[in-house]
Amino acid sequence: MKRFRLRAVGALLAALVLCTALAGTAEAGAKRASGLMQEGDTVDFGPVFRGIPVSNILWSSQEQSVCAIDEGRLEAVSPGQTVISAGYGGRVASCGVAVLPLELTVPLGQIVSLPSVGRERYYIEDGHIAAVSRDGRVIGLAEGDTRLGVSCGKQRRIVQVHVTEGGSANLLQGNLLKGLRIGIDPGHQGTANSERERVSPVGSDTKAKVSSGTQGVDSGIPEHETNLSIAIKLRDALDTLGAQVYMTRESADVNISNIERARKMSELNVDLVLRLHCNGNNNPSDSGMDVYARKTCAYAGKDPARAQRLLESEKRAAELVLDEMVAATGGKRNAVHFTDKYTMNNWSTVPCLLVEMGYLTNSGEDALLNDDTYQERIAQGLVNAVCLYAGRDRAYSYGN
Ligand SMILES: [Zn+2]
Repeated sequence: MKRFRLRAVGALLAALVLCTALAGTAEAGAKRASGLMQEGDTVDFGPVFRGIPVSNILWSSQEQSVCAIDEGRLEAVSPGQTVISAGYGGRVASCGVAVLPLELTVPLGQIVSLPSVGRERYYIEDGHIAAVSRDGRVIGLAEGDTRLGVSCGKQRRIVQVHVTEGGSANLLQGNLLKGLRIGIDPGHQGTANSERERVSPVGSDTKAKVSSGTQGVDSGIPEHETNLSIAIKLRDALDTLGAQVYMTRESADVNISNIERARKMSELNVDLVLRLHCNGNNNPSDSGMDVYARKTCAYAGKDPARAQRLLESEKRAAELVLDEMVAATGGKRNAVHFTDKYTMNNWSTVPCLLVEMGYLTNSGEDALLNDDTYQERIAQGLVNAVCLYAGRDRAYSYGN
């Protein structure tokens, strides 16, 4: 096997470790530090680094699947971004590392974002075949092969670029959502739980721990089943794109209150929680999609600035979710609502949205919401909303 000893990355991490060892300026140094690697590259610090046994340094990589680290030996496993940390003497220094692919496949007309530490410069050999933007987005212009040069400081790497007529970009699958943590709560459960719990950490109002939900007016399918089958499609799609996905439940046979669901996702510190629900009403003509975010944050008293950021994130995510879900399905767009009536939303310390995907009490939407293809489309819309929320490209284009 070919092994590279990357002096540039090595020197960079060496500086970091030295920083850590000397303490004092570790954080300042870490902020500016970053490294470029490419699939298959390895860096080995040897058993002793500047007088410190590497086994005494606590190493970690946020994304082991991108760049694995074991006692001072780094290995670039697959394209993506991660943060490498080195801890010593009570100090921790970190540095962003981007692992570039050896080869990049870009379908004609599509744009693919390269993993980046934010300071790269790019050069494309044949500008007729592909173009690259200053922030590392590569677009396929004509079928063929060319080479892409990437430099960051003294580090230089070459990526073989193939622009193809069809197919999908190799970087999209498995990397688009790398580093992102998403929570999914398929609403309700097999048996409702009428015991009461507080609607919010502030105030004394109570509500049932888990309500029974609605059911298909024609199909008779209970809401908890429809929610779970869409949740599983969403989970699998996000997982394929490299996100870490956490579910509150994966079967009907559970008993988890809304507060417990909120706590689980908050403890996991996910980037966004999507609560999947279907609506119901006595009026059979009611239809369409709605998204609910919080109006106020129950934790505002503790940390007003953080609460404000949370509400802003939720608002942005709510609009993206509704827009993308409507665009993906052709469903009716109702509205984004801001309310403090939902227990799980109120107790969540991370951005959390209640997504009403349609009305099971509407005959047409009952059929759609329980249709495999339509469920896939909802999942695709939600995935795209997550992509945009995370500042990445959409994973899917909506066909006809
Ligand atoms: Zn519901």
